[in-house]
Amino acid sequence: MQLVLIGPPGAGKGTIAARLAARFGLVHLSTGDLLREASAAGTPLGEKTKAYVDAGRLVPQEILGEVVAERVRGERAFVLDGYPRTVEQAEFLAALPAVGIAGALYVAVPEGEIVRRLAARVVCASCGAVGETAVENAACPKCGGTAWEPRPDDRPETVAERYAVYMQDTAPVIDYYRDRGLLVEIDGKGDREEVWARVEAAVAALAGDDDNG
Ligand SMILES: [Zn+2]
Repeated sequence: MQLVLIGPPGAGKGTIAARLAARFGLVHLSTGDLLREASAAGTPLGEKTKAYVDAGRLVPQEILGEVVAERVRGERAFVLDGYPRTVEQAEFLAALPAVGIAGALYVAVPEGEIVRRLAARVVCASCGAVGETAVENAACPKCGGTAWEPRPDDRPETVAERYAVYMQDTAPVIDYYRDRGLLVEIDGKGDREEVWARVEAAVAALAGDDDNG
């Protein structure tokens, strides 16, 4: 089964993708990881990618497409996290040999809830690990540090702006999958376990359809 995972920043996509991978035997492909892997691989494509990643620049669409194409080749079951971000990318993905997206899961979370969730995040001042404000008096699980600070990116006005940009960019991709009958909209409100239960049920239903078809 091949899935695409869509959702605004703060929707918990990384965690959901990892749990989907474990539960349904899928390979979790996140674009961040793919770019890091490619950069480390030392291939001609990797060298091109590395130049952008090292410079902290956005990797151009053609290179990102090649990286995704190379990685999904021969992978029968995956959940793609962070791609496609545009209709052009969705079309590129659909045209790859042996790619047949069974469903595009869209985790819908209202802006107000995203702002609340992200405002509750802190990062470890020494190693950058992300925690929740509840851990504020505890030691960092990664490095043992005890100083936590808010992330500048998580200020309400910054979050609102990121959310608006994300929705503007992603709305056409959501429509693209809806038009093709592939969109699976998940109510992303509530706590992590509630959302996961909805995701799991939706994907189990898809997997059933996949087996029968
Ligand atoms: Zn730390």
